[in-house]
Amino acid sequence: MPESASAKSAVNFDPRPSEAFAEFGAAAPIELDDWRYSSLLNNDTLKAALLSIHNDLDQQRRLFDVVLTNLPLGLSVFDAEQKLIVANPRFRQLFGFGEDEAAPGTPISSLIARIRGAETPGAQASAKHRDIISDGGRIRRREWTMNDGRIIQSVVTILSDGSNISIHADITDERKAAERIAYLAHHDPLTGLPNRISFREKIDAALASRQPDEQIALVHLNLDRFKSVNNTMGVSAGDKILRQVAERLRLSAGAANTLARLGSDEFAILQCGRQQPWNVTALAEQIRRELSEPFFRGDKAVELSVSMGVAISPEDGTDTDVLLKHAGVALAHAKADGPQGERFFTAEMEAKLNARHALEGDLRKAVQNEEFELHYQPLYDLTAQRICGFEALIRWNHPTRGRVPPMEFIPLAEEVGLVVDIGRWVLKRACLDATRWPEDIKVAVNVSPIQFTNSDLPGDIRDALDTSGLPAARLEVEITESVLMENRAVALPILHAIKQYGIRIAMDDFGTGYSSLSYLSSFPFDKIKIDKSFVTGIVENREAFAIMRAIILLGSALGMRVTVEGVETAEQLALLEREACNEIQGYHISAPRPAADVPHLLEQTFGKTAAPRS
Ligand code: C2E
Ligand code: CA
Ligand code: CA
Repeated sequence: MPESASAKSAVNFDPRPSEAFAEFGAAAPIELDDWRYSSLLNNDTLKAALLSIHNDLDQQRRLFDVVLTNLPLGLSVFDAEQKLIVANPRFRQLFGFGEDEAAPGTPISSLIARIRGAETPGAQASAKHRDIISDGGRIRRREWTMNDGRIIQSVVTILSDGSNISIHADITDERKAAERIAYLAHHDPLTGLPNRISFREKIDAALASRQPDEQIALVHLNLDRFKSVNNTMGVSAGDKILRQVAERLRLSAGAANTLARLGSDEFAILQCGRQQPWNVTALAEQIRRELSEPFFRGDKAVELSVSMGVAISPEDGTDTDVLLKHAGVALAHAKADGPQGERFFTAEMEAKLNARHALEGDLRKAVQNEEFELHYQPLYDLTAQRICGFEALIRWNHPTRGRVPPMEFIPLAEEVGLVVDIGRWVLKRACLDATRWPEDIKVAVNVSPIQFTNSDLPGDIRDALDTSGLPAARLEVEITESVLMENRAVALPILHAIKQYGIRIAMDDFGTGYSSLSYLSSFPFDKIKIDKSFVTGIVENREAFAIMRAIILLGSALGMRVTVEGVETAEQLALLEREACNEIQGYHISAPRPAADVPHLLEQTFGKTAAPRS
């Protein structure tokens, strides 16, 4: 628009819209219609005054013009008849109008018809974008998607007489950034798959639109032993393999189903339709086939397998949370079966889960209320023919459950981390009890692998010794090979630190693990305790006896004391007495007894022919 034309538009501007220009600093040109101007020209004083006003106005018009021309936003003003009064160059540029196309007087409808693009449907409908302004007018937002891809937003202030002033801006970059943020909030950046948030929304939508005869299957997948891939090959190689896994899963799932990544090595698929469980079973088979081919990282091949848990709606739940939970429960059961497990959710699983939750709740209370008690089982020295120590074995006396055996709550306590508090209590109690025994009687305490990784075990042991006053030499710590199996790098320094105190370390349940032998050489154990399963049959079965004998010889050859657990009969004892076995433990000497029975046990004599059992 040429300068003069835009200035003229401003002068001819009708009273009310001109008020809207006040904010641009323009004086209202209401009284300056041409006839009045000329009739007043006869009066000299007035003439001078008006000339000065006119000069002022001229100056302000020029200012207004500069503002209009340089405004980085498009500006357009339409009168009550929806005819263009004024528009700035940016307005024409944004909408691609030529100068004559957007000349004053052009009806809004013909301008809209000439827009090279289309109004974005729904953009103006949103209620939150309609604001009422003070003088009865209102603000309306419109949005245009141009043919070249730009997005232009118009904020239209409609005044009460129907005229309007609009500001137009190119919001393409802002919109792209907002879309990117929305994308990132709903996708996993590594694989580009929908993330947990987005997956939940998809389940919500699928459940809401499910027809009565339709079913929705939810498959929760977890890669088997993926942690070890990460540990051995490094996280970045792990990431590359995860991307390949995602790609193969995408192929298996197909476009009809929704695939998502829920966590590090966890994925999920939502399958809608009928004929379950057949469809989902076929899908699971397809996934197995797809993942059975090795994955490659450079020239290194990695074999992977997957475990799956499936829940189907409506049978297994009609709510997103419930369905997700049940697929997770089925997955946990599948994992417990070993790698490549696959389980459908059952009500039984839920019952087990609930029972577990109840047990966990009770266990937490038990820790607070100190519902535990230690029983002591004698360790009998075969050479000295007397009790040389006691193993502390925990008992849980629950007000309604009764006495819960350790095998029923220690594994759960390990899983939920409570074993750290329990273990601390056991150490304290056992050391304190042992201070009441003769000085040559030792106490052995079982320590869980979790205490190595999730607590300051040497500190806790130190505490127990210091508060009780028990000399370190009277304490023995029993560990199983799982301590070394799960986290050798963490466990070994701790074991050495404990040994440094003068505490003895025993390897418990020897022979039951996969590689007890290899662990024997990784740490100088003071003692091995041969598992009770090896005692069974040594009297009747020559092979069983030969194995027992070999293990005893191995232990003593390595310079370790050897204890045989689970000795139940005098015959078993008699056989072991002839071997290089140092100690025995078992019902034949005594079952574990409450602390109060220890003095009585110590008074008893257990001759070679004696077979007492309390
Ligand atoms: P363990 O350390 O191997 O303890 C020996 C288990 O064998 C005890 O079972 C004991 O009662 C049982 N036993 C003893 N003599 C005989 C026998 O002649 N024949 C047979 N069949 N069994 C015998 P218990 O007390 O039920 O403890 C089971 C396991 O629970 C223990 O096995 C140990 O792994 C764990 N445990 C017990 N107390 C604690 C504790 O304070 N902390 C930790 N972390 N684990 C504990
Ligand atoms: Ca033990
Ligand atoms: Ca044992």
